[in-house]
Amino acid sequence: MSALEFQTIVLSFFISNIIITIVMAYVWFQNRKRFAGTSRWFIFHILFTIGMFFLMLRKSVPYFVSSVITHSLIICGLMFFYIGLQRFIGKKASYVKVTVYFLIFFLLSIYFSYIFPSTKIRIIIYSLYFVIINSQAIYLLLFQTDRRQRVIYRNTAFVCGLMVILYTIRIVVVFLYTPGTESFLQGPVDSILVMASQMLNIGMTFSLVLMINSRLFLEVQDFANEKEMMALELRKLANTDGLTGIFNRSKIEQALTIEVLRSRRYKHPLSIIMADIDHFKEVNDTYGHNVGDQVLSGIASMIKQHVREVDTVGRWGGEEFLIVCPETTAEGAKKLAEKLRKKIEKHNFKDVGSKTVSMGVAQIEEDDWDEDMIKRADKNLYKAKKSGRNRVE
Ligand code: GH3
Ligand code: MG
Ligand code: MG
Repeated sequence: MSALEFQTIVLSFFISNIIITIVMAYVWFQNRKRFAGTSRWFIFHILFTIGMFFLMLRKSVPYFVSSVITHSLIICGLMFFYIGLQRFIGKKASYVKVTVYFLIFFLLSIYFSYIFPSTKIRIIIYSLYFVIINSQAIYLLLFQTDRRQRVIYRNTAFVCGLMVILYTIRIVVVFLYTPGTESFLQGPVDSILVMASQMLNIGMTFSLVLMINSRLFLEVQDFANEKEMMALELRKLANTDGLTGIFNRSKIEQALTIEVLRSRRYKHPLSIIMADIDHFKEVNDTYGHNVGDQVLSGIASMIKQHVREVDTVGRWGGEEFLIVCPETTAEGAKKLAEKLRKKIEKHNFKDVGSKTVSMGVAQIEEDDWDEDMIKRADKNLYKAKKSGRNRVE
């Protein structure tokens, strides 16, 4: 049984605690500005380590230290662990409640050490504290946290669950197995239980670090999503005309260039329609600029609604629109223009009544670039205006 010698196990518990305290110090230092609670976990580990130190020296320190102080330090550490969790998940930590809990433990320790000495009762109280605090921690992690983030807390809740089981076993064992009176902890059964709690303590440190890690990961993910949304929004804004919601001049120019290149490369037809609202100035002069804006948006959305999905519509200038129609001959574009002209002519605009548009169509020709097409469409539009407006040329 020498391998399970109590003193050896406490020594290894002490050493592993020093290591995980150093880990926790580092975790705290790294995350102290980002997440609340890590400093409390650091304190929790320090208190546990000091507790283990006194337990290790229990034969050479006064009885008060080995029986009352040691276990009070560990219970105090446990309280700090719980407060750390509360702070980490963003709950207000109730120090008063925790202090009362601790004082009760302290007084009970003194009572069952000096007035009514009983190692058995002290082990039961000590274990009960572990069961209660860890149960509260499980409740906190699984029921008091944000539903979306709950997955982060599962590991820690699981280790707390193992703690509850371990200390429940401990209480049962104390009933079956009567320890000597010399110390709080001794004998092979207690040694095994202490070893198990050492493993869980290491497991707890891992789960706390993983918990911080998952939370960090979630925050990075949120940040990345937000950034992507912003970039999308920005790109949309950069391409859109503020008043009409269709493409702006630079975007429609870009779309035209792409289609011209494609059409030249594959020798496919391409046509454009330049549309201009007739006597639009009158609308502004008679009904004011706001009503003018409404008519402008109305006509823009009518055009957008009645073209094909592959066609691109943009605002070319004040009350002029450009429609780019890939895979379309002048004949086809003229049909579309006529359809649009009729739709707009029939529409009854609020206050203003009926408005008309004139349109000029142009199909791509051999060696044509964007400007050549625009020039021809403009010329045809001018012709339409000259020939009495509300026409397609
Ligand atoms: P035409 O039939 O020859 O095209 O006559 P028109 O009055 O439509 O043509 P003109 O080019 O003389 O006037 C265009 C008007 O469009 C002048 C300008 O005030 C108006 N306009 C341009 N942009 C906007 C705008 O964003 N909102 C409003 N309300 N009016 C605009
Ligand atoms: Mg006009
Ligand atoms: Mg004009």
